[in-house]
Amino acid sequence: MNEESGLVRELRRSLARLELALAQIADGLAITDGQGQLLWCNASFEGLIGRPRLMLLGQPLAALLRDAVDADRGLGVDGLVAARPKGGNVTTVVSREPLQVVEIHWRPVHLEQPAPYVFTFHDVSDRVSLEELRHRSQELMDQQLALAEQVHTCPVTGLPNRRGLAIAIEDALVRLDRHPGWLAVLFCDLNRFKEVNDTYGHRVGDQLLIELAQRMKEVLRPNDVLARLGGDEFVLLCSELKAAEDAVQIAERLLQVVGRPWRPEISDVPFVITPKVSVGISLCNGCGLSPDQLLHDADLAMYEAKRRPDRPVVVFDEEIARTLQWRVQIRSALEQVLRSQQLTMHYQPVVELASGRVVAYEALVRPQHADGRLVSSADFIAVAETSGLIQALGELVVNQVLQDARHSGLLERGLGLAVNFSTQQLGCSGLAKELIAAARRFGCPPALLTVEVTETALIEQPERTREELAQLRQAGFRVVLDDFGIGYSSLNWLAELPIDGLKIDRSFTATMLEDRRRHALIAAVVNLARELQLEVVAEGIESEDQRAALLAMGCSLGQGFLFAQPLSPAEALGSPTPGPLPPAAC
Ligand code: C2E
Ligand code: MG
Ligand code: MG
Repeated sequence: MNEESGLVRELRRSLARLELALAQIADGLAITDGQGQLLWCNASFEGLIGRPRLMLLGQPLAALLRDAVDADRGLGVDGLVAARPKGGNVTTVVSREPLQVVEIHWRPVHLEQPAPYVFTFHDVSDRVSLEELRHRSQELMDQQLALAEQVHTCPVTGLPNRRGLAIAIEDALVRLDRHPGWLAVLFCDLNRFKEVNDTYGHRVGDQLLIELAQRMKEVLRPNDVLARLGGDEFVLLCSELKAAEDAVQIAERLLQVVGRPWRPEISDVPFVITPKVSVGISLCNGCGLSPDQLLHDADLAMYEAKRRPDRPVVVFDEEIARTLQWRVQIRSALEQVLRSQQLTMHYQPVVELASGRVVAYEALVRPQHADGRLVSSADFIAVAETSGLIQALGELVVNQVLQDARHSGLLERGLGLAVNFSTQQLGCSGLAKELIAAARRFGCPPALLTVEVTETALIEQPERTREELAQLRQAGFRVVLDDFGIGYSSLNWLAELPIDGLKIDRSFTATMLEDRRRHALIAAVVNLARELQLEVVAEGIESEDQRAALLAMGCSLGQGFLFAQPLSPAEALGSPTPGPLPPAAC
């Protein structure tokens, strides 16, 4: 104990000696943390700033110097450090009467991340003549301007970068106060740029970015600013627009110039790329939005544009804000479902149209939001797909459905079960294997399990999907093509696909009685299916007349609100949802 306090005493003494020594040094010394806040300084630095140390500690050094030393010549010391993070120096005037000039040096100390910095302030007033000072001052100005440019511009395209854009938006917002009109931020993202980089290399990628920057400049008006935020993101800032619609017109011109075919110069192999961008627009006419908010809204609108290939230009509005908010809520409901591994499925009966006898049930995911609202299956699945959680959800669905079936005795009754699989699920190899294993685990005969897939799955990944489906059929599962009629299946395809049946999309059923052509189409599909020995189920039957018309065409199976809505497991299968799932997922 005594020895320890002796050590502490010695340490204190040694620190005091060090402090005293540092206080004698004529140079100002300061240490900042990684964020630029003052951790320590010596007496000369206090003298330079003109305030006692206690008032300085914890303050941003840049702000202290801005007031006392460098009179903010543009970048300020924080900008200079950002531009030269490995260290540097700058000479600057502290006061003119009497003349005081200091040389500031800075170096990082690699003790921790982000690195603290040590600054020294060396008085060079007596070494600098006025003439030299003028010269140095000019040099410094040039240097700072060059650095400012580096800090505010993208090295590949020479366009302003995120910092440069932020300044430009701030300026434009200030001007908007004086000259009423519209300010538009057009957030442009190149589609599939990663593929260009991956396939042709970064040189071609950089060349494409430079080309795009040139092309985008073609639509610039005198006060507009084009910036590159990094990657394949460009932002066009248009000020002084007369109407909000002008921004959409500019975006459309942008799509045109960007979309011209392009051939890279450096490649031996002649190939042509046709670039495409998605554009999100946010608008402001003095509505008090911050630069960050404007950029953020435009970014969100751009994501919306990316989601819908048919609408490459999207203007941010309240509806998008609501949709996005709803999607965030769905995402949290989805995460909750996956965390708890608790999912309620609903079951809609498939019936024999003649007798009304139930022959099977289609399982539909029907999650509940925390506020009790039911989330639509389509929205839920879409969010699961875009957030990369569809595989995990798919596994849970299969487990839950098989568990519901086992506990309700559905399988013993010989009733079939249909489960939906989305395009992305089918794109993953191994689905067949997993499903086969899951069915075995729950004792479900494959013949009772139907896999519903949509046409898009077969069109987007034909080979892989076909292989998976063929394996499933080989194992005894049934495969049907869901929502038939709204995709792009050609007749040729229908004959070749590894399927057992098809489900006519409910949009056909809904209009078949009013629209004679739709009626004729359904009749033709039913006939065709019969010839190809495919089973047909009509979806979305809501009226007695529809049922009768379908029966008359020879369609023997159907599904729809006329018979039953999707029901809870207890209502449909006659048994409550049982307890926890078995640990091993498929
Ligand atoms: P789907 O497979 O075509 O399912 C039929 C949809 O039609 C269900 O909508 C059902 O509630 C609705 N429906 C049934 N009868 C009628 C009717 O008479 N009138 C009308 N207007 N609608 C009817 P839901 O539950 O919203 O599901 C939408 C889609 O979401 C499904 O279309 C399916 O593609 C997908 N989905 C549902 N559950 C799952 C799932 O567990 N996994 C995957 N991957 N997709 C699922
Ligand atoms: Mg379905
Ligand atoms: Mg369907």
